[in-house]
Amino acid sequence: MSNLAADLKELVAVNDGESALEQHGADLSYHPAARPDVVVYPESAAEVAAVLEYADRERIPVVPFGAGTSLEGHVIPLRGGISLDLTRLSRIVAIRPEDLTATVEAGVTRKQLEAATGPQGLWFPVDPGADATLGGMAATNASGTTTVRYGGMRAHVLELEVVLAGGRVVRAGSRAVKTSAGYHVAGLFVGSEGTLGVITELTLRLHPIPEHIVVARAAFPSVEAACRAAGTLIAAGVQLTRCELLDAMTIAALNAFAGKDYPVSPYLFLELGGTEAAVVGDLETAREFVADEGATSFEAEADPTARAQMWAMRHNALMASLALAPGSKAMTTDVAVPVSELPGAIEHARRALEETDLRGGIVGHVGDGNFHVAFLLDPDDAESVARAKELNNRVVEDALARGGTSTGEHGIGFGKLAYLEQEHGDLIPLYRGIKELFDPHGIMNPGKVVP
Ligand SMILES: Cc1cc2nc3c(=O)[nH]c(=O)nc-3n(C[C@H](O)[C@H](O)[C@H](O)COP(=O)(O)OP(=O)(O)OC[C@H]3O[C@@H](n4cnc5c(N)ncnc54)[C@H](O)[C@@H]3O)c2cc1C
Repeated sequence: MSNLAADLKELVAVNDGESALEQHGADLSYHPAARPDVVVYPESAAEVAAVLEYADRERIPVVPFGAGTSLEGHVIPLRGGISLDLTRLSRIVAIRPEDLTATVEAGVTRKQLEAATGPQGLWFPVDPGADATLGGMAATNASGTTTVRYGGMRAHVLELEVVLAGGRVVRAGSRAVKTSAGYHVAGLFVGSEGTLGVITELTLRLHPIPEHIVVARAAFPSVEAACRAAGTLIAAGVQLTRCELLDAMTIAALNAFAGKDYPVSPYLFLELGGTEAAVVGDLETAREFVADEGATSFEAEADPTARAQMWAMRHNALMASLALAPGSKAMTTDVAVPVSELPGAIEHARRALEETDLRGGIVGHVGDGNFHVAFLLDPDDAESVARAKELNNRVVEDALARGGTSTGEHGIGFGKLAYLEQEHGDLIPLYRGIKELFDPHGIMNPGKVVP
C-alpha cells in the first residue's frame, strides 16, 4: 500500500487493488483510460470533508465518481490522484409526498429513488438511459426521455449539500419550491462535473404518476419526416411525456440485441400521460399528425409491462449499437437545436454520416431538439477516431449555426472542451475565475470543463 493509501486509510475506506483502479479509470467512450492512484469510499459527508481537507493540503487531485456512466471522460483521472466513489452515500433521507420532494444522499441511483417513491404514487422522472447516481446526474445536469414534459436536473434540484475543496460543507438552495435569496449557487453546482465541489445530499422535486399512460410507436419513411412530426406534435400542445427518435440502423441493432422484429425503418417512440380523456384525445391528434408525415404504422398500448419493455428497448440503444461491433467504443455527438431547426440539423447529420464509412446510428430526445450520432470505433485506430472527430465537428458547427448547443445533456468532461470554447469563448475568463474561487489549488477533477 502506497503512502497515499495508508494516509487515507486513517480517514475512509480505501482500495488500491488492480480491479478498483481499472474500474475507476475508464468510461464507455473512446477516451483513453488513466488510472487513479487510489479509490476511496466515504460513507458520510464528514468523511468526504476529511478526504478533501487532506487532498487540498497535499495538493492531490480528486475525481468524484458516481456510477461512472458519463460519456466524455468526466471520471477519468487525467492526473492520477484520488477517485472518490460516492456509491456508499446511499441513504434515502426523506420522501415528502405533501411537498412533492425527496432528500437523498448523492450515491442513490435514479432507479432506487423510483422504487421508493412508486408505492406512494410519485416519481422522479429524469432518466438518462443508465442507472446513474443522483449526485452524478446533478453534476452533469442530466436529462433524458421525459425532459420534454418535466425538464432536466436543473429543474429538479431544490437544495444541495456540497463539500468544497478544503473540506468546508455548505448548503445551497432551500426546500421551498422557489427562492430569490441571492446568486443561484445550487444551479452553479448543477453541471459543474465535480470541478467545484462534491455534492453529498440533494433535495429533489417529485411528480405524481399520471393517472393514465399510453405509449405509441410510429414508423416513418425518413428521420426527417419523424422529426417534422415531432415538431408538429410539440407545437400543437399534445401532452407528450416522451418523444424519442430511433433511426433504422438503431432499430436493426435493437432487433438483434433484444430479439425483436420491428420493421427496420426510423421510428418515433411516444408516451402520453394525464387523465384518460385527455390522453385518448391527444392520442387521436398524434395519430393524425404522424399520418400527415407519411407514417407507415402507428401502434399504441397502455399495458404497463409493454410500456416498460418499450422504454427498456430505447434505453438499450447505445449498448445494442456497441454489440454490433464487440470490443468497440463509442463517440457520441450530443447537439441540441431549437425544435424548429431539428429536421434540417438531422438531415445535415445524416448526410454527413452517409458520406463517411463510419458505422453509426442516430437517436434523439427530439421533443427537446437533442439528438446523438453514436459512432462505433476501435479506439486504437487513430485514423477512424480522427474521421469521427471531424464528423463530430461538422455536426457541432451546424448546430451552433442554428442557434443550438454542442451538448444538450452529456456535458463537457474533457472530450468537449474545444466545443465549449467555440460555443462560449467569451465566458471562459469567468469560468476560470469561478474555478479559482471554489477550488484555488485546482484539485477538483482537474482538466475538465474549464479549458
Ligand atoms: C447507455 C447510456 C445512455 C445515456 N443516456 C443519457 C441521457 O439520455 N441523458 C443524459 O443526460 N445522460 C445520458 N448518459 C450519460 C450519463 O448516464 C449521465 O451523464 C449521468 O448523469 C452520469 O451519472 P453518473 O452517476 O454515472 O456520474 P459519473 O459518470 O460517475 O460522473 C459524472 C461527472 O459528475 C461528477 N460527479 C459524480 N458524482 C458527483 C457528486 N456527488 N458530486 C460532484 N460531482 C460528481 C464526476 O466527477 C464526473 O465529472 C448515458 C450514458 C449511458 C452509458
